[in-house]
Amino acid sequence: MIKKLLIANRGEIALRIVRACKQLGIQTVGVYSTADESLMHLRFVDEAVCIGKPNANQSYLNINAILTAAEVTGADAIHPGYGFLSENAEFAEQIEEAGLTFVGPHPDHIRLMGNKISAIHAMKKAGVPTVPGSVGTVTIHNAEEQAKNIGFPLLIKAAAGGGGRGMRIVERFDEIKTQVQAAKQEAELWFGDDSVYMERYLQNPRHVEVQVLGDGHGNAIHLYDRDCSLQRRHQKVLEEAPAPDIPDDVREPILQACVKACEQIGYRGAGTFEFLFENDEFFFIEMNTRVQVEHPVTEMITGIDVVVEQLKIASEYGLSYRQNEIVMHGHAIECRINAEDPATFVPSPGEVTQLFAPSGAGVRFDSHLYPNYHIPTFYDSLVGKLICHGQTRQQAIAKTRHALDELIISGINTNIPLHRDVILPDEDFVKQAQNIHYLEKHLLKKTATS
Ligand code: ADP
Repeated sequence: MIKKLLIANRGEIALRIVRACKQLGIQTVGVYSTADESLMHLRFVDEAVCIGKPNANQSYLNINAILTAAEVTGADAIHPGYGFLSENAEFAEQIEEAGLTFVGPHPDHIRLMGNKISAIHAMKKAGVPTVPGSVGTVTIHNAEEQAKNIGFPLLIKAAAGGGGRGMRIVERFDEIKTQVQAAKQEAELWFGDDSVYMERYLQNPRHVEVQVLGDGHGNAIHLYDRDCSLQRRHQKVLEEAPAPDIPDDVREPILQACVKACEQIGYRGAGTFEFLFENDEFFFIEMNTRVQVEHPVTEMITGIDVVVEQLKIASEYGLSYRQNEIVMHGHAIECRINAEDPATFVPSPGEVTQLFAPSGAGVRFDSHLYPNYHIPTFYDSLVGKLICHGQTRQQAIAKTRHALDELIISGINTNIPLHRDVILPDEDFVKQAQNIHYLEKHLLKKTATS
């Protein structure tokens, strides 16, 4: 087993990883920037090392600083969390070259999936259905030819894209060349890689994803699916598990295809296959090779600790469960709690004055906040995740509503009102799963009537 783990992250996920380590008897090393001395998880780790200045480039994204911290503390493994360096193949490679364990997939698989063109190619080969789209890289020269085969509207996407950025909808054939040119420039600027590809723009899909675990030796299992269709600017706001209203005979082949794809490539660790789901059909869009923000909804319905499993797999303990031992139970909903203005969505860092976290059976609040904690301006606005489990989707919704009523965070603005007053009480949301456009349309409707 890993003996001492360095957590190359901050905030709620760092605290989450500390908890998993304690359960397994693994010692922990926390790292932090000079803006982050008061992070909650640093009180619970065995050792803490300052790795640099507030700007993430000079701390949480600084590979040398993190490797040095591992060396001086004698850590034998590194968990990257999500975001920051979690999907950086070079980081994983350097960790392994230093003789340490990277808690994540083989660097080759991070690289394969990090480029969406090669990821889609690999998935097609493994028999996973993909969105009809371009073949290989799209250039100014072949763009029109490729577009003809796809049809309109289509979406130009950056191969190295992420975080919902670098996508352009093209409605008409005569726009294609200029849009490809602009998309390439944008991709170069944001991701340092100008490769782009094209996909049919699905009109009203849902975002449904499958959680997998692989042992790195050709064995893999799935932990069912999640629906993450409630998005704003392609960023997830609320997630649930399992994805509602999917017939078993449509769901099962996709779960199997994901497992088979992992087994074929010898995938190691936790991963997520993301799909668009429209008219009872699944279309692969990308794979995330890390633990995701929304993993707790899967934990609630399966009873499996995804981070503990990541650590066990990295320690070469293999998979703790066989597929037939994984039983899905009830329904879970996660509300992402962001420090932001609920109306304008502008980040709202600052000092938390009061905090009351709801609890009770099936209620979980993953957060690093505490009274008098000062949220720095430098990082992501996610400050907590409220996760509620019920026997049915309706019960999970009811429980989430009560929990949101109880959740008090004062001193800063948060998006609690968005969940409590706008999403959860909405009849359409309560009735059934909604598509990826629902939230933005619903927000427009609300602003128009208020
Ligand atoms: P990122 O890596 O930036 O998150 P994804 O490829 O995962 O990008 O897509 C993010 C979101 O964009 C999806 O959840 C969906 O809402 C939308 N999207 C992506 N591809 C398509 C498509 N072909 N048609 C319609 N919507 C899409």
